[in-house]
This record gives sequence, structure tokens and C-alpha cells, in this order.
Amino acid sequence: MTKKLKFQAPTGMHDILPEEQRYFQKIYSVVEDIAKFYGFEKIDTPILEDAELFSKGVGMSTDIVGKEMFSLRTKGGDYLALRPEGTAPTVRAFIENGMINLPQPVKLWYFGPFFRYEHPQAGRFREFWQFGFENFGEQNAVIDAQTIQIFYNILQELKLKNLVIEINCIGDSQCRPYYKKLLTSYFRSRESALCPDCRRRLRENPLRILDCKEEKCQPVKSQAPQIIDHLCEICHKHFKDVLEFLDGIELPYRLNPYLVRGLDYYTKTVFEIFTETNEEIQKQSALAGGGRYDTLVKLLGGRDTPACGAAAGVNRIVELMRERSQKQPKEFEAEVFLAQLGNLAKKKSLKLIEEFRKEKITIGESLGRDSLKAQLVKANKMGVKYTLILGQQEALDDKIIIRDMKIGKQETVKLDKVVREISKKIKK
Ligand code: AMP
Repeated sequence: MTKKLKFQAPTGMHDILPEEQRYFQKIYSVVEDIAKFYGFEKIDTPILEDAELFSKGVGMSTDIVGKEMFSLRTKGGDYLALRPEGTAPTVRAFIENGMINLPQPVKLWYFGPFFRYEHPQAGRFREFWQFGFENFGEQNAVIDAQTIQIFYNILQELKLKNLVIEINCIGDSQCRPYYKKLLTSYFRSRESALCPDCRRRLRENPLRILDCKEEKCQPVKSQAPQIIDHLCEICHKHFKDVLEFLDGIELPYRLNPYLVRGLDYYTKTVFEIFTETNEEIQKQSALAGGGRYDTLVKLLGGRDTPACGAAAGVNRIVELMRERSQKQPKEFEAEVFLAQLGNLAKKKSLKLIEEFRKEKITIGESLGRDSLKAQLVKANKMGVKYTLILGQQEALDDKIIIRDMKIGKQETVKLDKVVREISKKIKK
């Protein structure tokens, strides 16, 4: 049996090692490019927030607040929580920083770690990373469709296959209360056929019963009244418009009347994006989810502001990229390699590397090594076009050898000319 280490990362939390960082960076750069293209600006909010921001914004009866929040009392007596999601903090920042007075829409995006005290399992961690996009100040259905399109585009750009969008409309303050009543009375009359969790949901948040994955609840669920038949005129038209916009851009969506999502703040459109592989895993692992939240800004103390947004799970995307055995994005691609021998050469190498850095030419090296052979093997592996050889004699003469790795030709140049020479060769 292996001995348990004295210190380990907390349960459900992980180091992101260099190999994984490359996937993170790839995802970050795709997200950043797409955010720029669609006019979103980056925001970072604190990791800790007033816990009430989430109990009020996301809802006490939701799992992520009611059961899964990491919270703490500070020495000063504040009750704070590690952020379990990104929308409520972004809304708080929007209000606090007076962004309502900016020309609308205000479009923000974020990328960072989030925390939920979940039961750790595949694709479900206690610390996980999300990126999210939030669009404030627009109520037209075209924004809902564009939000979905942005997330779909990011996942496609990351080469994820078989993407499916599931979409539903969960109404607004006009039509949802009536539907909730209808649903409650339907489930109440069948309470004994529900799982224990759903019996609790029946009192706290009956809509969430629609989301239950327990075998036992499926037959009752399948006969339940569907919100689509009880939407008010405004929500009905809004949903129809969203679907028409999606049709227009040929995104492959599927209506899912049971999709309600775990957060209280949604109004009208909700959606999730999956990859269609294995049904069982799929249900655990939506890659992205979001929707419209027209009442949240006001609820958290701001002016009435329609809004729409979504978030995607970075860890799950990394898992899929790995599974699909996508070639690991290379961390560092050098154009030139510097091989050296002896202390004087090392000293001159340190200076030379800085000169290459200033010229923005990437240069690989193995400064700690002395064997020229081993260094040339490394240069070969890195696939550089040119290797520079600074041996003991060259270092004394202030010269350096440039070796063309493809044809094996070598030439000697003055040390103070080498950056210019290489720059010319590379830019040819
Ligand atoms: P949510 O904020 O619950 O809508 O989650 C948005 C996305 O974040 C999900 O579709 C997942 O990809 C990811 N996600 C949510 N919770 C976790 C978790 N505990 N571990 C890893 N990824 C998560």
C-alpha cells in the first residue's frame, strides 16, 4: 500500500500541472479571441463575495447555495462565500461600478476558478474553472440566440465534436407562478411516486423535479404539465423568436421541456450544450449552460436591466480535448536553439538570450548542460531551423557557429552580429 502523503490537495481540488496548462491556455486564447470579436470586455471579480449575494441572487433552495457553498466568517464578522458561479458577482460589479450609466449593452466576460462543495466524481470537482459571457441591457431574443452561438463557436473552435444544444423557456413573473402552482398540485397528488429528494423539492423548488435523473421519478415526470403550454404571450413570442434565429444560423438545437437549470435567476430562455457521446455521462456533463435573467439586476439592487449570459466548464472541455486525443498544444516553439560549452560560453549565452528576447525571436537552450551532443539532440527534437553553437574557442574569439539544421551547413559569424543574421534568415 502506498503511504498517504502528509499534505495533499483538498478533496475535489487539483493542481493544474504544466501538461494541463497547455489546454487551459489554448482554451483561454480561443475564448479571448472570440470575446474580442463579439465586443465583450474582460472582468475579474473577487474569489470571495458576501454570501448573501448568492443566497439572494442564485437562491437558497438551489443546490449550489443551499448545499454546496463554501462559506466563512471573517475576523471582522463578515459572512463571505467562495464564489460558486460567475453571474451574480458580475451583476454585483455591474451595479457597483455604475455600468448602467454606460452605453448599453454592456458586454463582459470572465475566466477563473469557482467552488462548490459537491460530491467529487468524474467531471465534478470542488474547485473548477469556468469562463462566462454576460450581456446587459438588451431584451431582444436575438441576444439569446447570439449567446448560444458564441458558446457553440468556442466549443467548435476547440474542435469538440457532436455538439448538441438543448433549449427551453421557463417563463417569467407573468406566467411562471401559475405554472409552478399547476406543477405543484400535479406532483403533490403523486408525491409517493417521487424520490426523497424530489419530495423535498416539491416544497422548496418544484421546477427542479423536472430536472431529476432518478429512475423512480421518470414516469411521473413524463406526464407532468409542460411550461411551453402555459407561457404568457410575451414569453411565447420571445421563445419562438429565439428558435427562429437559431434556425437562421442552422444551429442544431433540441427542445427539452425538462431543462430548468439549477439556478433561480433565469427567466425565459435556458440552454445547455452537450457533446453527444454516452447518454449516461452526457447528463452529468453539460459543457456549457446559461440563459436570460431579466430580473436579477433589479433583485440585487440595480435598475431594471434585461440580461442574458452563460458559462462553460473548462475542466470538462479539457477532459474532452484529451479524450479525443487532440494533439497536445505545444507550450513553446523555438525558432533557434543555442548550444554552448564551458563557463565563458555560458556567461555570454545569458547575455545573448536576452538580445534574442528583445528581438522577439524564441530561443531554446539547455544552459545547465555541457555535452554538445545532447544539446544537438534536443535541438533536433525541438525541430528548430537553426542551432547556434558557442563552444569554448568561439567564446574566446567572440564568434558563434550558425548551423542550418535542414541541410547541415555551418557558418561562423561574429557574436555581435548573430541576432541580426538570424533575424534576416527567419524573416526570409
Ligand atoms: P452551471 O454554473 O452549473 O450552469 O455550470 C456551467 C458549467 O460549468 C457546466 O456545464 C459544467 O461544464 C461546469 N461545472 C459546473 N459545476 C462543475 C463542477 N463541480 N466541476 C466541474 N465542472 C463544473
